[in-house]
Amino acid sequence: MIRINDILDKIIESNPNADLSPIDKAYIYAARAHAGHTRLSGEPYLSHPLEVALILADMKLDVESVAAALLHDVIEDTPVTKQDIIKMFGSNIGHIVEGVTKISKLKFSTKVAQQAESLKKMILAMADDIRVILIKLADRLHNMRTLKYHKSADKQRMIAQETLDIYMPLAARLGIFWIKYELGERGFFYSMPEEYDKIDMLINKKKGGKEKYIKTVNAKLKQAMDKACIKAEIKGRYKQHYSIYQKMISQNLDFGEIYDIVAFRLIFNTVPQCYEAMGVIHSMWKPISYKFKDYIGIPKPNMYQSLHTTVIGPYGERVEIQLRTKEMDKIAESGIAAHWTYKEGVAFDKNNNKVFEWIKNLVENQDDSIDPDEFIENVRIDLYPADIYVFTPQGEIKTLRKGATPVDFAFMVHSEIGIQCTGARVNGKLVSLDTKLETGDTIEIIITKGHAPSFDWLNFVKSVRAKTKIRQWIRTFEKKRSISLGREMCEKLFRKKNQNFNGVIKSGKIEKCLDCFAFKSVDDLIAHVGFGKITPLHIFHKIFPHEEEQQNKKDPLKDIIKKEQKGNKEGIVVKGLNDVLFKISKCCNPLPGDLIIGFITQGQGIAVHRKNCINVLKMSSERRIDVQWDKEIKESYPVKICVCSTDRFGLLADVASTISKNNINIVTAYTKNHDFDTALSYFTISVESTKQLRKIILDIKKVKQVRTVKRIASN
Ligand code: MN
Repeated sequence: MIRINDILDKIIESNPNADLSPIDKAYIYAARAHAGHTRLSGEPYLSHPLEVALILADMKLDVESVAAALLHDVIEDTPVTKQDIIKMFGSNIGHIVEGVTKISKLKFSTKVAQQAESLKKMILAMADDIRVILIKLADRLHNMRTLKYHKSADKQRMIAQETLDIYMPLAARLGIFWIKYELGERGFFYSMPEEYDKIDMLINKKKGGKEKYIKTVNAKLKQAMDKACIKAEIKGRYKQHYSIYQKMISQNLDFGEIYDIVAFRLIFNTVPQCYEAMGVIHSMWKPISYKFKDYIGIPKPNMYQSLHTTVIGPYGERVEIQLRTKEMDKIAESGIAAHWTYKEGVAFDKNNNKVFEWIKNLVENQDDSIDPDEFIENVRIDLYPADIYVFTPQGEIKTLRKGATPVDFAFMVHSEIGIQCTGARVNGKLVSLDTKLETGDTIEIIITKGHAPSFDWLNFVKSVRAKTKIRQWIRTFEKKRSISLGREMCEKLFRKKNQNFNGVIKSGKIEKCLDCFAFKSVDDLIAHVGFGKITPLHIFHKIFPHEEEQQNKKDPLKDIIKKEQKGNKEGIVVKGLNDVLFKISKCCNPLPGDLIIGFITQGQGIAVHRKNCINVLKMSSERRIDVQWDKEIKESYPVKICVCSTDRFGLLADVASTISKNNINIVTAYTKNHDFDTALSYFTISVESTKQLRKIILDIKKVKQVRTVKRIASN
């Protein structure tokens, strides 16, 4: 087992003035927390965090990273909490340890490979500090190094596959080549042992001949560089087992067809030397044109830079060659970590904008306003700010917009699930449907057959899909309902007039009416009756005009039709429908701000009640309809209030002037004496909203001798 001093020595090597106390403290803390636990290898558990910390110290990462590495498993595996860590080590280290814990808690399903891309994004989204991922990679690396202690081959294979699917690409994305390489080799070894062995044998078999070959090519390259007076370091190397395997698969090659298991790398002092040397090589050996890549001119998103070329070598074989500078070579090996290392005196080279560009590109942070200093100092970065990643109960990942709710999730899974959704469990706990989901949550939707979406959902759903589906559903549902309601209303009225409505439809007489109102179908016409836009009598008179003349004078519905022509000025809307006839009910006088509900009346449009109005309870539920206040229209509505006060001279006048001062009209007012010293004054006033009403009530309460002011129902 390595000792803490090995780690401390490493840090002092690269940063002699480092304050090592957080590491000492973290070591003692982790040793206590993990005391008595052992690894599968039989070693004390502490050996694992020590190894992980050593990997980070080797990468020359800062003191906070190394301390957090020592603590990375305590929240998950011991009773220690995040708060304990923050209290002891401060919020930076606490935040990093918590980030690592969150990722470790993710339960990957068997579908890892199919959703690897989402998983990678999910991990990046959860780790809002790059160091969280660096620790996670080191953690996985040590676990892969000790994977042989796992007894079950299945378990080994599963962990190895996950490493290849998730962690190796993450290391690649961050440009940490050496970790990518080692995870790839170890992952391949355990996930596909037979294929690994075959490729290993192939490499070993060819090695004898290859050693001589490498020497020859090396010598030829050296000669050419010397002749051109370019100073270069030349390396011939065997390719990674896993990359040979991947090449085999992608190019559909057999084991026997694999020849280029060796690649060459030339390292120079300057960029022009790279291009010059490439010219020398291309004039010596013919390049395969489509294989040439200039990652110096156009670096990879993770700032990897090199020239890649494949040429026809001295024996007519393909030779892969990479050319780069020393600096590029360092970056290619350690990736983002190269820029996270401690440099004495300066946290980062401020003039090296490219480094910041790299990190910015990497995290897809497009915000230019961030000052590089601040950016580094404040290492908590939003890697994928716009999206969150959540799990289905089956472990499938869904990507949603930030702020999405269980309803958005339900509609994303299936529109039927969305429509019938009545509840949700997030991580096993029942939550309200407007709960904001977070990356890593597992969501289970509870559905009730025959349940309908609600208008309220439109207030909190985030996705366009959910919004469209809810609106669509409501529109179709309302239309269906108004058709059956309208039909019922027409049949009733026609019966009263000794006519048969269905007969009228069958006889075709209704067509005349369709033209009049410009409707395409009978259903449309009837639906408008159901919505109260047209009265059944209106239709009746279009079909039997002579009856109209006789009854013209007495027709009480005339008024309603007039009102309809005036347009909807009541300030109420049914979403998705315009120009519906509304009537504010007098029993409860709803005001903007009150919760309201509509009731489809027989031929008089929609009556609007307060949701808690006693009359609502008596209505048949199928005639109820969701309505909302139209925020754009300012209207005044009558409301009745009762002022209870000590009887005194001039009180009514004082209250009335308070109301008028608020620019509110008094419609009616009267007072009656309740007992010898109490007066009850009733006012009907015209207000725009419950907010305005609340204000006026407060104002009236300030009038001398007033005891209470209450809003009351009319009757
Ligand atoms: Mn661990």
